[in-house]
Amino acid sequence: MELSPRGVRTHIALFGKRNAGKSSLINALTGQNTAIVSDQKGTTTDPVYKSMELFPLGPCVLIDTAGLDDTGDLGDLRKEKSLEVLGRTDIVLYVADAGTGLDKSEESFLEQLRQRGLPVILVWNKTDLPGSAPPPQNAVAVSAQIGQGMLQLIENLSHAKPGAKAPGLLDGLVMPGDVVLLVTPIDASAPKGRLILPQQQVLRALLELGAPALVVQPKEIPQALAALAHPPALVITDSQVFKEVANLLPSAIPLTSFSILFARAKGDLQELAAGARAIARLKDNDRILIAEACTHHRQEDDIGKVKIPRWLREKTGKQLEFEFCSGLTYTKDLREYALVVHCGACMINRTEMLHRIEQAQNCQVPIVNYGVLIAYVTGILDRVLQPIPEIQKQEEFCHA
Ligand code: SF4
Repeated sequence: MELSPRGVRTHIALFGKRNAGKSSLINALTGQNTAIVSDQKGTTTDPVYKSMELFPLGPCVLIDTAGLDDTGDLGDLRKEKSLEVLGRTDIVLYVADAGTGLDKSEESFLEQLRQRGLPVILVWNKTDLPGSAPPPQNAVAVSAQIGQGMLQLIENLSHAKPGAKAPGLLDGLVMPGDVVLLVTPIDASAPKGRLILPQQQVLRALLELGAPALVVQPKEIPQALAALAHPPALVITDSQVFKEVANLLPSAIPLTSFSILFARAKGDLQELAAGARAIARLKDNDRILIAEACTHHRQEDDIGKVKIPRWLREKTGKQLEFEFCSGLTYTKDLREYALVVHCGACMINRTEMLHRIEQAQNCQVPIVNYGVLIAYVTGILDRVLQPIPEIQKQEEFCHA
């Protein structure tokens, strides 16, 4: 069975004190022994991720975290790792032990979650045990141990509204029946025998919309245009051949890129475009952080390590210093950088990318992603942003 990538799954994180039954709840929800369960407090150390389908919620990932009352130096580290999970969480399941009820620290944590605007479901666990307190209003009473209350919990989950609802990839850009030209170069950096995930997802979205797609390599663009009775409603290209594609297309044909569509669906395109324009203000010895959300295999001419530093030095003519981070750990204090350049974030969810953008904003550091940066350094940013409805509206507003 083909699984949805984690980046498009609803992230449901379980928080609570040690021994509240978070791991048992994951096991009861998944019907498997995914998480290690033990009566000994603090069995869960690093967050554990389990992808699954929860009908009618759809594809999601359950995240088991260490107890919030963990103690000692190691306990503090585990708590820190648990709290980092909040940056990628769409819905919180707060698991309370019905035998002990909620203490002040838990009440205060729940209040913090609400203030962050996170949907929270209070799960009143261990209700099968004698002496358990009745659930507060709005809590879901369950016994993870004997699998009681799971249907009600899943029902509540399906009504919880994730805070950062992503716009569809093609919202406002393509109508049913529109013909769309996709440009996907098959070069040395393309994976063997398949299209990359963003290309697959755009194709899938076009099929769902009922918009026919024509898929070509750059050199076949003239042939494809000649074969169509009307110009395509939109051309979507791989970022790395932006310039070549832009030169081959009449300027009246709307052109954007897979990475612009994903920057929009995954993050805040206007903020990322502002980050690109900050490149013109870079100075000698400025430090730039290149952040990638996963530790993928690096090629010789790697985009993050090699190409982007080279393009930025060429574009600005400045002596720039580059630092790199990758994976789920994102440098917290960004103030020492003049710019953050983030990857396309295909492996993380929108909530996490918005959180990363917010961290940069809080440090007053501009942030751009690879696709928007490439469009800027190749001089076609304005053209590829032009088909995007909210950017058009912003420009109309600015020029009014
Ligand atoms: S875009 Fe980011 S998350 Fe996706 S494969 Fe590249 S480095 Fe990993």
